[in-house]
Amino acid sequence: MQPDCIFCKIVAGTIPCEKVYEDEEILSFQDIHPAAPVHVLVIPKRHIASLDDLTEEDRPLAGLLLERTTSIASWLGLHRTGYRTIINTGAHGGQEVPHLHLHILGGKRIGPMVAQ
Ligand code: 5GP
Ligand code: ZN
Repeated sequence: MQPDCIFCKIVAGTIPCEKVYEDEEILSFQDIHPAAPVHVLVIPKRHIASLDDLTEEDRPLAGLLLERTTSIASWLGLHRTGYRTIINTGAHGGQEVPHLHLHILGGKRIGPMVAQ
């Protein structure tokens, strides 16, 4: 738990969220500013600042994150139509919240991968 981290506060329940899925290690919730008809975030409960901060010890957690992400996308009904997953990393990656998270975006064609 990082005391000044928004997503750690969501994990702790001190900031509310619209929960989509939760288990011991993973939490998924609705993005507060949805960029598509479906826009949910999937995070490890443990504070890891970014993709760049994963270590070898985190391999099982990294695998679990991806596995849960595909399950959540499926429960959200996105498995037939497809969806986009995004992990923004650092300043050039456009990461705003420094707690590792995957975006799941769907419900329409998401458009070009990178803005021109
Ligand atoms: P990033 O740009 O770091 O990849 O994405 C951060 C995402 O977190 C943004 O899409 C933003 O809308 C979302 N977000 C930021 N603060 C909150 C919050 O307090 N609650 C929820 N549910 N989402 C948040
Ligand atoms: Zn955190």
